[in-house]
Amino acid sequence: TAFEYAPAPESRSVVDIAPSYGLFIDGEFVEAADGKVFKTVSPSTEEVLSEVAQASSEDVDRAVKAARKAFEKWSVLPGAERAKYLFRIARIIQERSRELAVLETLDNGKPIKETRDADLPLVAAHFFYYAGWADKLDHAGYGANPQPLGVAGQVIPWNFPLLMLAWKIAPALATGNTVVLKPAETTPLSALFFADICRQAGLPKGVVNILPGYGDAGAALTAHPDVNKVAFTGSTAVGKAIARQVAGTDKKVTLELGGKGANIVFDDAPIDQAVEGIVTGIFFNQGQVCCAGSRLLVQESVQDEVLDALKRRLTTLRLGDPLDKNTDIGAINSAEQLARIKALTETGEAEGAERWSAPCELPSSGYWFAPTLFTNVTQAHTVARDEIFGPVLSVLTFRTPEEAVAKANNTQYGLSAGIWTEKGSRILAVADRLRAGVIWANTFNKFDPTSPFGGYKESGYGREGGRHGLEAYLDV
Ligand code: NAD
Repeated sequence: TAFEYAPAPESRSVVDIAPSYGLFIDGEFVEAADGKVFKTVSPSTEEVLSEVAQASSEDVDRAVKAARKAFEKWSVLPGAERAKYLFRIARIIQERSRELAVLETLDNGKPIKETRDADLPLVAAHFFYYAGWADKLDHAGYGANPQPLGVAGQVIPWNFPLLMLAWKIAPALATGNTVVLKPAETTPLSALFFADICRQAGLPKGVVNILPGYGDAGAALTAHPDVNKVAFTGSTAVGKAIARQVAGTDKKVTLELGGKGANIVFDDAPIDQAVEGIVTGIFFNQGQVCCAGSRLLVQESVQDEVLDALKRRLTTLRLGDPLDKNTDIGAINSAEQLARIKALTETGEAEGAERWSAPCELPSSGYWFAPTLFTNVTQAHTVARDEIFGPVLSVLTFRTPEEAVAKANNTQYGLSAGIWTEKGSRILAVADRLRAGVIWANTFNKFDPTSPFGGYKESGYGREGGRHGLEAYLDV
């Protein structure tokens, strides 16, 4: 059947996970001030991977002090010197990419083919890209000697642990800031391995500090009076709480929040290609992607054709062991996230949308959810409005380009959208009217460090990536 697994080619043995890890403060792994620890588990097996020190506000204070001290020297280091460290980090990430890909797959649950072919190459690419900027800031049009902001307090989610770290740390260091970063509580390990890479690269102590912990540590970090810049990626609810918290301070803030991206398929689109794009759009990383194409808007005349092809394609997706290189759909990151997905899909059914799930056997341990479609969806349905952050696609239809644009924009969010059509003029006309930070045409979920990324409306503000990503860390 489609669900017999080949033996895992990427063996666990390429990564050596210690039974316990400390916080990384001032270049050393240390215990939490109050001695607290928490367990991190593999979402595909529920196996405990390691026990990790849990930061509290006292640890945040220690880390911010270390970052402040390191800032004195790091901020005045010539850009070319900072670049050397970033290039070194990028190369070590490449050298250790197999180990890091397996680690990320174990801690997050996502398929090895994604960590190997998407996450890790992009992580290295971000460090290479921003290394290239470090000695060119005077030529970026910001005037001579643009100044770093100081200590950056960065809080990241669990869906792309190492990539979100790269989006945050690479531009911060390139521009001369120092960093205290809190990874998400369900995926602390790759950030701790990154701390080891910083040591391996000889990065001066205190330039990067990593504080595993929960939301309380995140809140203590973003509220800390000696943090000059807050960078957050996560839910819109927490993003709003942070915006309220920093209001009335002089902190600079960027927020990358939720989304409900529309993937718009016109009747002249190459259907097979569009179906692949729909699948990538919503089933990549089990749909736990802020810019996922979680709403399919399909032109009425091709609705049946697209849905038939899509269902056929979904029955061929392989769900299972994320370390198997043939796996397409891995585990959901946590029991809490799985419960959220289940609750929202139950609401979808209760409200009258029609549910179809790919026929697949779910493993008996771990957190799993089959690829799912909702049809007969109206714009008022919860599954058309709320971010599910799981492998669930809501299908709506439209007749005219005007209607497609109106429906695509009918959301509190504005992070991403996709357009599928043979007509170049239509791509340009529709893209101009979509209120979304990134718009793909005849592709989806393509990323590049040279391109700015970020949201409109409740998807947040500020941009990461590209030259725009530098501005968030500079006084120009
Ligand atoms: P979350 O907001 O609960 O947690 C994100 C991070 O914030 C975690 O590290 C968490 O510990 C920390 N945190 C929690 N409460 C905090 C507080 N009061 N102050 C400071 N930090 C706090 O989100 P999640 O459930 O971990 O992630 C899923 C959400 O993130 C989804 O809604 C998704 O759309 C969003 N997301 C957005 C992007 C983007 O780029 N826009 C990327 C990934 C995820």
